[in-house]
Amino acid sequence: MTPTQPAPAATGRCVVVGASMGGLRAAEAVRKAGFTGEIVVVGEEPHMPYNRPPLSKEALGGGLDPAALRFRIPRAAGDVTWRLGERVAATDLAARTVTLENGDVLAWTGLVVACGLRPRRLAVPGPPGGRHVIRTIEDVQRLRDALSPGARLAVVGAGFIGCEVAATARELGVEVDVIAPTAVPVERPLRRMLGAALQRRHEARGVRFHLGVAPVEFRGGDHVTSLLLGDGTELPADVVVEAVGCVPNVEWLDGNGLDLTDGVLCDDRLRVEGRADVVACGDIARFPNPLFGGVPRRVEHWSMVTETARRAGHTLGRALTGAEPDPAPFAPIPSFWSDQYGMRIQSFGVPDLGAEDVRVLDGDLDDEVAVGYHRDGRLMGVVLIGLRSHYMRYRALIAENAEHDRGGAPVPQDRVAERTVGGSRA
Ligand SMILES: Cc1cc2nc3c(=O)[nH]c(=O)nc-3n(C[C@H](O)[C@H](O)[C@H](O)COP(=O)(O)OP(=O)(O)OC[C@H]3O[C@@H](n4cnc5c(N)ncnc54)[C@H](O)[C@@H]3O)c2cc1C
Repeated sequence: MTPTQPAPAATGRCVVVGASMGGLRAAEAVRKAGFTGEIVVVGEEPHMPYNRPPLSKEALGGGLDPAALRFRIPRAAGDVTWRLGERVAATDLAARTVTLENGDVLAWTGLVVACGLRPRRLAVPGPPGGRHVIRTIEDVQRLRDALSPGARLAVVGAGFIGCEVAATARELGVEVDVIAPTAVPVERPLRRMLGAALQRRHEARGVRFHLGVAPVEFRGGDHVTSLLLGDGTELPADVVVEAVGCVPNVEWLDGNGLDLTDGVLCDDRLRVEGRADVVACGDIARFPNPLFGGVPRRVEHWSMVTETARRAGHTLGRALTGAEPDPAPFAPIPSFWSDQYGMRIQSFGVPDLGAEDVRVLDGDLDDEVAVGYHRDGRLMGVVLIGLRSHYMRYRALIAENAEHDRGGAPVPQDRVAERTVGGSRA
């Protein structure tokens, strides 16, 4: 479908929904692309854009002032109007307006969807007191207050965020149980071999895992005092963290005929399908990446927020000034990191695409290690624990392999130092 062209206008108004990292970077890019009109960023949180990854790490550990999380505002975004503590309730794409919850209507010539995700809540009966999620500064302040030494924390969910919370809480002297339906922590995307290695590291520091099971009831008066698990176990707990994934904030886009099945479907320029005047970026954007098969997918990684926001802002800024967008294919390599007990886990590429063939490439699973995820013998993703000096080498291999997918020269297999460990292919 040919996107509906906006009337070329260097002036007019660009509205950005979401005042976080994606919104900030997109506003900056719209301006850099030559748009000279008004840019208004509407954000539900009362804060200027801030950095979320430290929330489950240093900020929860108490070593960081939340105010220090704020991003510096670059000069290109210096004249942006920030409407903070205000929520967009709806948009009418045909009329080119957004309606705020307080009834204000803002007309726009360009719209950026940068409204991210919210934590999924467990549909488990029981008292609400003592149940936490972790996405915002306020969430961390509340949780930090509850994590006094000796408190009993139950983390429901064993993904990266659940594991980071568990690690930080152990360092605060909290008793930690982790409950998850999977066989190992971070089963997707790490898979069993590396997930099991991660579990051993946590257990060595006193975390207790309850895997292959889910909570069916929270017990207590106004406040949780225990969790009943599906296998009949009753776990005492004063504090519960629900770390069971996130839900895209798409409701305000309803009624416009968009594909909102998992975030907002975009094309490879980050244009919301069929529109040249609406783009999306960050965690909410579902876009095709030619490096990894071209299937539209959302990627909840910090580095991808910057890449998509820059591209989306550029695309929109160019459209609003009547110029063509950058013709180069948008093919960012996903990358992610996690910090647990002072060790850095780094992932790049898409390990999920190589889930059937997982091999230790370097190092030792119970120490520093590089694990490769292959499809048809080719490296689709790498996860490092430690081994920071190997980062550039493996990242370059992933990029070369991806190039090969697009017709470049194959990467010689002997360039990948492979060493299988005791038949430990997952
Ligand atoms: C605790 C935590 C730890 C993380 N750690 C890592 C890590 O170690 N490594 C890594 O790669 N990534 C990490 N991430 C992921 C990374 O932080 C996210 O990918 C990134 O924050 C997404 O940015 P965003 O701008 O797309 O969305 P968000 O940061 O979610 O921002 C969206 C904003 O839009 C606002 N909004 C939503 N709906 C509306 C509306 N209708 N009207 C107005 N405003 C609205 C929201 O309130 C929010 O402020 C972590 C995330 C969390 C929560």
